[in-house]
Amino acid sequence: MTTVFDASTACTDTAAKPGRDVLKQRGQHEVFCGLTSIMWLHRKMQDAFFLIVGSRTCAHLMQSAAGVMIFAEPRFATAIIDERDLAGMADMNDELDKVVTRLLARRPEIKLLVLVGSCPSEVIKLDLPRAASRLNGEHSPQCRVMAYSGSGIETTFTQGEDNFLAALVPEMPAEAADAPVSLVVVGALGDVVEDQMMRVFDGLGVGPVRFLPSRSSTTLPPIGPNTRFILAQPWVGACAQALERRGAKRISAPFPLGEEGSTAWYRAIADSFGVPEAKFDAITAPGRERARRAVARYKPVLEGKSVFLFPDSQLEPSLARFLSREMDTSIIEIGTPYLNRDVVGPELAMMPDTVRVSEGQDVERQIDRVHTDNPDLIICGMGLGNPFEAEGRSTKWSIEFVFTPLQGYEQAGDLAELIARPLMRRELLKVGS
Ligand code: SF4
Repeated sequence: MTTVFDASTACTDTAAKPGRDVLKQRGQHEVFCGLTSIMWLHRKMQDAFFLIVGSRTCAHLMQSAAGVMIFAEPRFATAIIDERDLAGMADMNDELDKVVTRLLARRPEIKLLVLVGSCPSEVIKLDLPRAASRLNGEHSPQCRVMAYSGSGIETTFTQGEDNFLAALVPEMPAEAADAPVSLVVVGALGDVVEDQMMRVFDGLGVGPVRFLPSRSSTTLPPIGPNTRFILAQPWVGACAQALERRGAKRISAPFPLGEEGSTAWYRAIADSFGVPEAKFDAITAPGRERARRAVARYKPVLEGKSVFLFPDSQLEPSLARFLSREMDTSIIEIGTPYLNRDVVGPELAMMPDTVRVSEGQDVERQIDRVHTDNPDLIICGMGLGNPFEAEGRSTKWSIEFVFTPLQGYEQAGDLAELIARPLMRRELLKVGS
């Protein structure tokens, strides 16, 4: 379901970078809720099961977002809060216990059960962390039980992953006292991307390297003062803070989108692990060359075009940096639901000061700015895409950047193509008409 909030006004904040004003907006905004991230999380961690405690609306959202999953044994479901629960005629905790017991008896392969809070569970103040702790006492060690919130009142869609990962941090084992310096890459990535990254890390001699989320709930990375971590996705700020509280040290870098972003990301890791410059160049040169060649194919489509990014996934600053620096695209506005300066500071530092940056949303005002600025391409949520297309504008759905593996050298061409596609289609339609 698309969540909509109403509130007040806009203001500016000059803290992101000296000389750069950030337009802070607190009006109506349109973005999916945190439940949506279950779409990729359940595929990533294959022995986990996500049980949403929500309404029929939540169940419909998940069913329509994951239509194809009806053909498989799903690893998510919704425990529906119905009228009896809302009227207080049934004890919600008893009901939940029954659902969980039935589920785990039928699906013994589940090793981690995740209770996911929603707007309804939040409104009726159902204490899911407490329920998880009670159920954990009953079902662990066969199955651990934890909880996090994916409610639309609190989260946008990628923040669901952040809440999940932050909730996993206390479950991560402590590293051994004599553990070597290790690296944890934080944020869900496609398996193919992880495999490609591992080949680069092996070449650089960086390791041991682990990923969070891990492919199994039983292989969570150990954590402690000898752990360094780097974010692979910009929306995992709460998880980063939780890792720091356990003593891990963050490596700050731009995100691995495009040739330049990937090189800067690997370089930050290599510097942290003391990899010599010559070795870094030798290992990354072939990938850099392939990435440059792949994106060059789409540069004639994107060069000189103007792009307006609405706030959606939090990938917007990284996408804008890639477009601006590697495709010579003109960025009109970078909208982002949250501007976490610790996380996206390196991205914004690479952008011209003239680029407008907005945090939060006041959707009507933002639409007015689109009408004034008249960009060649709008990157926005699905709800805004169709009305803009009906006005004859080219759009790209932001959610596609989350569902498509785009990180690293081998995917740089796919990233450029994904952005260029609506403009290429428009050209084809012109030719055909
Ligand atoms: Fe809608 Fe809230 Fe359920 Fe998300 S959690 S589908 S916003 S009711």
